[in-house]
Amino acid sequence: MGVSAIATQLEVRNLTIAYGSITALASINLVVAPGEWLSIIGPNGSGKSTLLKLMARLLSPQIGTILLDGREIHSQPTKVVAQKLAMLPQQQTIPAGLTVRQLASLGRSPHQAWWQWELDRAGNAKVEAALKQVQMLDKCDRPVQQLSGGERQRAFLALALAQDARILLLDEPTTYLDLRYQLELLELLKHLNQEQKLTLITVLHEINLAARYSSRLALLDRGHLWAVGTTAEVLTPANFAEVFGLDVVTLETPVGLQICPLSAINASC
Ligand code: ADP
Ligand code: MG
Repeated sequence: MGVSAIATQLEVRNLTIAYGSITALASINLVVAPGEWLSIIGPNGSGKSTLLKLMARLLSPQIGTILLDGREIHSQPTKVVAQKLAMLPQQQTIPAGLTVRQLASLGRSPHQAWWQWELDRAGNAKVEAALKQVQMLDKCDRPVQQLSGGERQRAFLALALAQDARILLLDEPTTYLDLRYQLELLELLKHLNQEQKLTLITVLHEINLAARYSSRLALLDRGHLWAVGTTAEVLTPANFAEVFGLDVVTLETPVGLQICPLSAINASC
C-alpha cells in the first residue's frame, strides 16, 4: 500500500434496500477508516437503523455491497464477521434472570467451538476485562432486567467488548438515559475509541452529542446520504433547513461546534 493510500475498514458501495414498496436507502456510498468515530444522523425514518443493520449484516441489500477489511460482508460466515464487528441494537431483548456476567459471556460465542459450553481461561479473562472496562464488575451477578438504563447499556457494551471486535456499531445507545448517563456512556466510548483505537459507528439522535464526540458525521435524508464530513461541513444552517426543516444557528462552544434550533420553517412560506 502506498503512503498516500487511505486505509479502509468498512466500505458501503452503491447500497439500496427497500421494505416492500418503501425505499429505505438509495445508492449509499460511504467509507469508514480504522479508528474513526462516524455518527449517522438524520430525521426519524431517514434510514439510520437500516444502514447500521446492513453494516452489521442483519439485513441484506437488494443492490450494492458492503466490504469489511476488503471482503464482502454478506458472503462471509456469521462467526468470522462477529469476530471483527459487534452491534449494540436499538431494542434489546433480555432473557429473564440472565445476569450481567452471563450476558457479557455471550460475547465470546463467536470465538468458541459449538461444542464448547464453558468459557476457557482466555475467554473468562476477556469477559472479566470487559466487565471492568464498563465498571460493572461489582454488579456482575445482578440480573440485567433489574438494572437502571445506564447500567443496562454498560452491560450490553461489555458483551460487545468481550466479543473482541475492532468495530462497534451502536444504535441510539443514549436514548433512554438522562444527560449525566449520556455523557458517561459517550466518555466511555471516547476512551475505547482513543485508547484502544476501536472504530465506532453510532446512530445518535442527539445532534449536539454527535457533533461533540464524533470525528465525522453522515447526514441521511429520506434514504439518501445528504452530506458526509466534519462537524463544520455537515452541521450547516443550509443542511438543517433542507433536511430537518429547521432554522438553526451554529455556535462555537467549549465543546466545539453546537447547533441551536430557532424555529421550524413553515413550508408554505
Ligand atoms: P431511522 O432509524 O432513521 O428512524 P429506519 O431505518 O428505522 O429509520 O427506517 C427507514 C424507513 O424504513 C422508514 O420509512 C421506516 O418506516 C421503514 N422501515 C424500517 N423498518 C421496516 C420494516 N421492518 N418493515 C417496513 N418498513 C420498515
Ligand atoms: Mg432508528
